[in-house]
Amino acid sequence: MEVLLYLYIGLIGLCLGSFFNVVGLRLPKGNLWTRSRSYCPSCERTLKARDLYPVFSYIFLRGACRTCRAPISPLYPSVELMTATLFVFAYWQFGLTGEWVVSLILISLLMIVVVTDLRYMLIPDKLLLFFAPFLLVFRLFIAPFEFWWQPLLGSAVGFSLLLLIAIISKGGMGGGDIKLFAVLGLTLGWEKVLLTFMFACLIGALMGGILLLLKKVKRKQPIPFGPFIVAGALISYFYGMDLIHWYRAISGF
Ligand SMILES: [Zn+2]
Repeated sequence: MEVLLYLYIGLIGLCLGSFFNVVGLRLPKGNLWTRSRSYCPSCERTLKARDLYPVFSYIFLRGACRTCRAPISPLYPSVELMTATLFVFAYWQFGLTGEWVVSLILISLLMIVVVTDLRYMLIPDKLLLFFAPFLLVFRLFIAPFEFWWQPLLGSAVGFSLLLLIAIISKGGMGGGDIKLFAVLGLTLGWEKVLLTFMFACLIGALMGGILLLLKKVKRKQPIPFGPFIVAGALISYFYGMDLIHWYRAISGF
């Protein structure tokens, strides 16, 4: 029966991932609820239900619009697959606990951030303001840290670290990144939010180098930092404490 449960969680992840794509595409334009049906941005044909199955439609249509054959961005099936995988992985990690719910809220926020940052190079305030209260309430009452003030400390640490970097780098860090770190801090705590930043920079430098080598980007071309923050936050959230304990053991710190 456990297998069925995993399958069910995966399916819900696929469908929600599909919804997160829509939210990520529409929220920055402010028309989340105005035009209810999805349409092809190239030929503007309204998509039918059979075009909208997460991942499966993309594979079946071989990554192109049914009518005009304009390519569909692989970002959409990727977000759907990532959401499903992370939902299942989080259940495998936490089981039916408060922490699992926190992880689902966090994953949802992060998946939408991937879409808005890759599409528009921004992380909307509305998005953070929507998720922050849920994360705070769950962190305080459902899956609390040892002390009640830890989420607040984490938030302050995340916010001030990024603000400092933004000031030093003279705008190398966007306002959205700073506010995202405030929200990450309250969910992860101060140690893991510092780790998140470290991982985000590492992965960003690595990916930036690879993209330069492959000539996918030009030197000095700004690359959205959001997806690297998302990757860093997920690694830190799921494996941060193991890494911190391991580091303390080998360094004696
Ligand atoms: Zn089309």
